[in-house]
Amino acid sequence: MDPLRKAFLKSIQSKNLAFAVANASNDGIMIIDGNHKISFVNKVLKSWLLWSDINADDWLTLPDEEVYRQLCDLTVSTNLLKAVTDSVQGKENLIAETLDIEWRNEIYKYINVYTAPMVMEDGDHVGRIWIFDDRTKETRIERAKTEFISIASHQLRTPLSAITGYLSMIIDGDAGEIEGELKEFIEAAYEGADRLAEIVEDLLKISRLEMGSTAVEKEKKNLSEVFDRITAPYVKLANEKGVLFKEDYDFDDLEFKLDENLLSHIVGNILDNAIKYTPSGSEVWLKARAGRGCRKINDKACLIVDIVDSGIGIPKEQQNRIFEKFFRADNVRKEDFQGTGIGLYYVKKLVDALGGRISFKSGLNKGTRFSIVIPE
Ligand code: ADP
Repeated sequence: MDPLRKAFLKSIQSKNLAFAVANASNDGIMIIDGNHKISFVNKVLKSWLLWSDINADDWLTLPDEEVYRQLCDLTVSTNLLKAVTDSVQGKENLIAETLDIEWRNEIYKYINVYTAPMVMEDGDHVGRIWIFDDRTKETRIERAKTEFISIASHQLRTPLSAITGYLSMIIDGDAGEIEGELKEFIEAAYEGADRLAEIVEDLLKISRLEMGSTAVEKEKKNLSEVFDRITAPYVKLANEKGVLFKEDYDFDDLEFKLDENLLSHIVGNILDNAIKYTPSGSEVWLKARAGRGCRKINDKACLIVDIVDSGIGIPKEQQNRIFEKFFRADNVRKEDFQGTGIGLYYVKKLVDALGGRISFKSGLNKGTRFSIVIPE
């Protein structure tokens, strides 16, 4: 064997290399050994501890209770504390998981904590590793974005509704009859302002969602009536565009526990896209079923909705991005379709909040099928 390779293999087997790797890591690493003692704290984690006036080397000699207390002081996450406590006490019911915690220091740190049991090749359990991933920068950027969207949309809303309100009064003749070019120009201004108001509403929805103020409120409802209410504006929209809107329902049990408001945002957004991205003369189908024989999630009956269009489709290489915030595929941009790229991001978040699933299949210029499954 190549002597260099031989040396490498030998060093891999040595503890030193493992320590060197752990110390070179960007993440904080802590190992709790088979005797439930903290046996290793890497350089990065030590630097965070030192930063908050704790002598990191003490950690290795501290009694367990003191370790919990120190961790408790350092973090504001009771979850983390409980998990570490369990780990040190040897309760091995804990599986690998991710926790978001705030690291209490001079300033808050946002750290993703990952923990997993350490098992050797022969199956021997040798301890537990804790990995602390510093997400402070990303979290701050994300929060700043959310805050900006929230402030911008709230500030824009009031003056915008004044503009659309007054323009619509002028169009209605409340300030005297208008005609000809003047009417055309005012109508164009109204349309622009109305479109802007829609974008602001979209931004507000996202900001509510990200600030955590979108609550799920389920009630037993009659499914046929719910779908009549949800589809009414889209039947009109499709008619106006000359798209053939077809519906197919199969509800065994008409009563279903759901959040009608959230469902109407989900189905409405997808239907709106289906009609927008389908040329006039072509079909859009809405198919929904629920009841016996339908799919279940966690043993709960499900509502299954398919929205199938025969429109421009989503380019294959961009399909993995369509649930991203503000993402719009090249084909819709090129053809100047109006849109913000917020709708599907919002839909995905809502489906997640309801414990459901969303998927799609699409072929360029063939059409797109969105499928949603939502548990009762
Ligand atoms: P937009 O406001 O642009 O419609 P969405 O978030 O609703 O934003 O959708 C994101 C992108 O996904 C769209 O810009 C478009 O590229 C693509 N898309 C969504 N639905 C369809 C569809 N039914 N047919 C073709 N492309 C679609």
